[in-house]
Amino acid sequence: MTNVTLITGDGIGPEIAEATRRCIDATGADIKWEIAEAGVDIMETKGTPLPQETIDSVRKNGVALKAPITTPVGTGFRSINVHLRQELDLFACLRPCKSYKGVRSKYSDIDLVIVRENTEDLYAGIEYEKGKDDTIELINWINKHSKRPVSNTTGISIKPISVEGTEKIVRFAFDYAQKMNRRKVTSVHKANIMKFSDGLWLEVSRKVATDYPDIEFEDRIVDNMCMQLIQKPELYDVIVLPNLYGDILSDLCAGLVGGLGVAPGANIGEKGAIFEATHGSAPKYAGQNKVNPTALILSGVLMLAHLDMQSEARMLEKAVAAVISEGKDVTYDMKANRNDPTAVGTQEMADAIIAKIKSF
Ligand code: NAD
Repeated sequence: MTNVTLITGDGIGPEIAEATRRCIDATGADIKWEIAEAGVDIMETKGTPLPQETIDSVRKNGVALKAPITTPVGTGFRSINVHLRQELDLFACLRPCKSYKGVRSKYSDIDLVIVRENTEDLYAGIEYEKGKDDTIELINWINKHSKRPVSNTTGISIKPISVEGTEKIVRFAFDYAQKMNRRKVTSVHKANIMKFSDGLWLEVSRKVATDYPDIEFEDRIVDNMCMQLIQKPELYDVIVLPNLYGDILSDLCAGLVGGLGVAPGANIGEKGAIFEATHGSAPKYAGQNKVNPTALILSGVLMLAHLDMQSEARMLEKAVAAVISEGKDVTYDMKANRNDPTAVGTQEMADAIIAKIKSF
């Protein structure tokens, strides 16, 4: 029996969490769910959107399935998602993008995986606001040591890329490729311009690649990568990127396969992993049993694979693919016409997936 924390979230979170839990249980996966709360709904009773017991539960179990959570605006609370990633040092963001027959998209036969570094780069939060004393001090230092003058009206965001951070994420990408029988890793950068940050990233990527002779390695400059992904996405397999490029290209790739409704994700660290849909809490649909549970269910597939429950993972993915491909018991967003009266609700789509599992 494996203990898994189920964070039910807010907005549409509880509905899609319930649908996903039922589908995973139907595979026979030997999982004991520990329900934990987070989000704006529990702020009033607990005084925080992220109670300590939720963090403790993920720490203890090492694995969580997390439904979306609203980022409270104007309350003084920072993003709960970012907080959880930092608390648990989840340095890798995994976003598989795969075409499923029946999902409307301009492309078919895409099967690639984005591996994004989650902690460094321009998202590290090292920023200096225009006109502040610290910023002026920094600008004075730069003007003393650099040949390129920086004006006093400048705001500055720092882009740290370390050897250890790069090595950890590139190794993660290769290990994932090895475990999932993937053939190639592509490292993305802008080393021709940012020689000391992206240049370091590329140098470390090349060094790590030599430890994996059975997996092909190549690198691409990020602008070229964007064009290649639009023109020939079938050439790519596992793509590893620093934080900012990873953020942008993972949405680009989600777009290639039909959008956020079918985009699963995971944030993974050495001591824990949180599996979650890419989309948010869509508060306007909360409580209506209307939205598509697919992205969270596919995140459940990733979770089962992570737990080495490979046959359960395959079974669940096959069932989801079959239901989507038939196009009958799917939510409104998967119908050709969004007002199609034959669209089913969240739980009914889960029922159809469960029926497929039982029929295998
Ligand atoms: P969103 O993804 O919640 O919703 C945008 C639109 O996408 C919705 O109005 C809906 O039309 C559609 N949509 C989203 N999920 C869907 C689904 N499962 N089925 C069908 N349609 C779906 O994005 P937003 O409105 O920008 O964000 C709402 C809140 O969610 C914000 O507070 C944001 O910070 C938060 N958020 C949380 C996460 C997370 O928990 N990981 C991720 C992104 C956004």
